[in-house]
Amino acid sequence: MHGMSLWLAGLMTHQIPCSYDQPINTTCPYCGVGCGVVATCTKKDGIQISGDPDHPANQGRLCSKGTHLGHTLWLDDRLLHPLIDGKEASWDEALTKIASQFQTIIERDGPDAIAMYVSGQFLTEDYYVANKFMKGALGTANIDTNSRLCMASTVAGHKRAFGADTVPNCYEDIESAELIVLVGSNLAWCHPILFQRIEALREERPALKVVCIDPRKTTTAESSDHHIALAPGTDVALFNGLLTFLNANDHFDHDYIDHHIENADACLEAAARLSLAQIADITQLSVEELLAFYELFGANQRVVTLFSQGVNQSSAGTDKVNAILNCHLFTGRIGKEGAGPLSLTGQPNAMGGREVGGLANQLACHMELDNAQHREIVRTFWGYETIAQKPGLKAVELFEAVERGDIQAIWIMATNPVDSMPDADFVKLALQKCPLVIVSDVTRETDTAQLADILLPSAAWGEKSGTVTNSERRISRQNAFLHLPGQAKPDWWQITQVAQGMGYGDQFSYTSAHDIFIEYAQLSAYQNEGQRDFDISGLSDLSSQDYDALKPTLWPCIKQADGSLKEQKRFFQHGGFYRPNKKALAVETVFQPPRSSPSRSYPFSLNTGRIRDQWHTMTRTAKTSHLLKHISEPFVEINPEDAFAATIKEADIVKVKSPAGSVLLRAKLTKSVARGHVFAPFHWSERYASNARVDKLVAAHRDPVSGQPESKITPVNISLFRPNGFGYVFTRKRPDPNWLHKTFNKTKFYWAVYGVENGYVIELAGAVYQDDEMSRLYHLLEIKDIEGVQICEQVDSKMKNLRRAYFDHEKLLALMILSPQQISLARSYITSIFNETFDNSNDKFSLLYGHPPPDQPDKGEIICSCFNVGEKEIVEAAQVNNIRTVKEVGDCLKAGTNCGSCRSEIMKILERNTAPAAAK
Ligand code: SF4
Repeated sequence: MHGMSLWLAGLMTHQIPCSYDQPINTTCPYCGVGCGVVATCTKKDGIQISGDPDHPANQGRLCSKGTHLGHTLWLDDRLLHPLIDGKEASWDEALTKIASQFQTIIERDGPDAIAMYVSGQFLTEDYYVANKFMKGALGTANIDTNSRLCMASTVAGHKRAFGADTVPNCYEDIESAELIVLVGSNLAWCHPILFQRIEALREERPALKVVCIDPRKTTTAESSDHHIALAPGTDVALFNGLLTFLNANDHFDHDYIDHHIENADACLEAAARLSLAQIADITQLSVEELLAFYELFGANQRVVTLFSQGVNQSSAGTDKVNAILNCHLFTGRIGKEGAGPLSLTGQPNAMGGREVGGLANQLACHMELDNAQHREIVRTFWGYETIAQKPGLKAVELFEAVERGDIQAIWIMATNPVDSMPDADFVKLALQKCPLVIVSDVTRETDTAQLADILLPSAAWGEKSGTVTNSERRISRQNAFLHLPGQAKPDWWQITQVAQGMGYGDQFSYTSAHDIFIEYAQLSAYQNEGQRDFDISGLSDLSSQDYDALKPTLWPCIKQADGSLKEQKRFFQHGGFYRPNKKALAVETVFQPPRSSPSRSYPFSLNTGRIRDQWHTMTRTAKTSHLLKHISEPFVEINPEDAFAATIKEADIVKVKSPAGSVLLRAKLTKSVARGHVFAPFHWSERYASNARVDKLVAAHRDPVSGQPESKITPVNISLFRPNGFGYVFTRKRPDPNWLHKTFNKTKFYWAVYGVENGYVIELAGAVYQDDEMSRLYHLLEIKDIEGVQICEQVDSKMKNLRRAYFDHEKLLALMILSPQQISLARSYITSIFNETFDNSNDKFSLLYGHPPPDQPDKGEIICSCFNVGEKEIVEAAQVNNIRTVKEVGDCLKAGTNCGSCRSEIMKILERNTAPAAAK
C-alpha cells in the first residue's frame, strides 16, 4: 500500500478509547489537503495511525505531521477542567459567569461590545453554532476567524470575479494537467501530500512541467522544472504581463470571453499599462525568464495554477488572486478537466469556515451580510426577529477595537492570536487590557491562554466529532475514537450552553454535531433554487448513523430524482457565474508596490512561513520529539553574503528587529534566500523559546478588500547577539517555560526548549557567567540531592568550561554543559541520549562533549524523522554504494519510504554530493 505504514503510538496517553481494535475513519487536523486517517486503538500497542487508502485526497499517504499524530495525544499539558481567574471551577459556574457578564455588557454597551475570534481548527458544526450565536442571537457580526490570516484574499478575489467564493476545480485536475504553476506555495513542506502526488505524476509523465513562482528557493522550487524568483509582492505585475502576452499571442478563448466575461476590455487595458521591460524591472526577472514562463503557460491548454499564502498574505492579496483568475478566465481554462485555478487553504477547515460564514462579513452557506436578501433568508430560517445588519470587524480591526475598549469581552476559541496575529505584542497588550477574556482550548499552554480570565477545556482531535472541508470542496468526517478526558467538552456545546444561559435556548437545543449538520444542510437549500453555489441539500436527511459513516463528499451535493446523490467536481466550464448577469467580472488589477519596503534602518525584507514538521504555534506538533528532529530551534535564514558582511556565522544567535519589536533567532545561512531577504518561521511561542514570536515583528498592514494582513514583507535589521557563554541542559523533566522566562531575562538570554526521546533539551546563550546564573541552571536539573546519583564532571576553570552529567548507574539523568564558546552538538545523537546505556567511563566522558562515542558515528542533521536518518548517513551511503536516486537511498537506509516528506531534501543532498544526474 503506497506510503502507508502503521505507527504505534499513544502508549503515554491516559485517554480512554471509544472502542478497541475498531478502525475509525477520520481526517487529519493539520493542513488544507484534508487527508483521510484511520485510527485504531489497541490494548497491546496503543493508538495506531495510518493513511486512509480510500480517501480521495491522500489515497493512503500521510506526511510526517499526519504520520506522527498518534504521538501528540498524551494528556500532560491538557486543560481538563474550567478555570476562572486561574482557579478550578465547575462548568456551571463558568458558563453562568460568561452568560451574565455578556448580558451586562450588552445592556450597557450594546452587542458590538462582545466579540469572538475563532479558528480554522473549528469543525464546521462549531463554526455554524458560533455564527448563529453572534450574528443571529446577539445581533453582532464581531466574529472573525484566524482564516482571515490564511485565505481571506482568495475569498475576496473569488467573490469579485465569480460572484461567489467558488473553487472552480478539484485535486483530480492536477492529475490530468500538462503544466502545474505553483504561486507563493512551498507545497513540499506546507501541503506535502499534494506535492507527493505531483512528484509521483512526474515520474509517470516526464512531460508534465512544474513552475514554482516564489522569491525563495524553497524545497518546492528546487524540485520544480522552473523556478521564477520574482521580487516579493510583484505577482500582479507578473500575471498582468502574462495576460497581455496571452492576448498578443492569440491564446485567448474569444467565444468564452464573449459569452461569459464582463469588463474584458477595461481589464486588458489595465493589464497592458506596464511594458515587458517595466515588468522585468518590477519583478527583478529577466525578459527572457518572463517570456519563457509566458510561452509555457500559453502553449499548454491543461494548466492548473495552485496558489497559497504567498499570494494571500499580502497588502495586494485580492488583486494578486484576480490577476491569476484573469489569465484562466480569458483563456477559458477554468472548470475544465486539467485546467483551472485552485487555491490551497492553510488549515484543515479553512474551507468549511468559508462555507459556514466564519468570516465577519459572511453569513452561513455562502450568503453575505451586506446582501439584504441573504440576511432575510438566514433570519427567517433561524427564526429571529432581527439579525446582524452589517459586516463585523475583521481580525486586525477586531483586536484594535479590543485595545481601544470598544470591545469589552472577547471569546477566543481554538486559536492563539498572541502568537499568530501580526503586531502580536499589540494583540497581547489589547488582551491584557480587555475586561473579560475567555479562551477555549485543549491546553492551557498557549501564550493566549495565559491571559484568559476564564479558560474552558475543549475537545481535541480524536475526541471531537463533526465535519471539515478541504481545499477542493470535499467534506470529510472527523470522528471521535477517544472519550472526552476530564471535563473537556466540544466547542459547539460550550456555545450552546452560553446561548441557553442568555435565554436563546429554543434555537440552541442541539444535542449532537449531527443535529447541527442537518440544520446547516437544510439552510444550504433554503430559498436557493440554484441561486447559490453552496448546496448540500442531498445530505440534509442523513440519519445519525449515515452521518457518522459519511464518505468524503464534494459539494455541491444534491439529491437526484432517483434518490442518488450528485456531486459536482467543477464549476464554470460553460459559464454560469453567480453574478446578476451570470458573467464573470474581469477585475482590473493594477500593480501597487508593497506597503513597506527595506530602508537604511531596516535593510532586509523578512518573509514568514512554515517548516516541514511543525504546525502553527506548535501546541501539538512540539509534543512529539519525532517532529523536532528535523528542526528544533527557531531560526532565520540569511543569505551567506549578507551574513558575511555582518560577521554572522552559521548557528550564531542574531537579533532580528523591526519597528514593532525584536526577536532572537538562530542564524541559518542559505542561498535559498536572495541577498537583502531573510526568512523566519512563525511557529515558536513563549512556551518554547525566550523571544522568538516572529509575528510580533510583522506590521498590521492589510489588503484593503480582504483585510488579510501582509505577512511576507516586513523590513527588519539584523545584528549579532553577543553572549558571554552558552549553556546546554538535558533533563528528563519538562522545564516550566514560565520559570525560564522569570529566571532568564529575555534581553540578556536566548533560550529554546525542545523535546528529545524521554527528555528535553534547553539551549541557552547569554550572560551565563554573570551573577548567579550558574546556580539557577543547577536548579533546572533538580536532581543534585537524589541519593545514589553518580556525578561525572569535568571543570576547566581557566577556560571556564563546566561539563557535568548525573547518572543512575548506566542511565543518564541529566547533563549540563557550560562553555564560553558554542558547542556543536551531534543532534542525531542527543535526541536519543536518554535511551542510551553508558556502561563505561569513556562513553560517559564522550557525552560530556555532546558527541557520541567513537563507535557511534554522528549521523548529521536528521533528514528523515520517521527512520531517524541523518544527512551524513545519506552522503556516506551515496558515496560508498554509488547511490544516485532517492529510491536507492530508501532501499539502503529506509529514508523517505514512510511519509515521504523528506524525499525532496534527500534529492537535494544527492545533487550536492553526487555526480549531476541524481534522480528522483
Ligand atoms: Fe495532514 Fe500532511 Fe495530509 Fe496535510 S498533507 S492533511 S498535514 S497528512
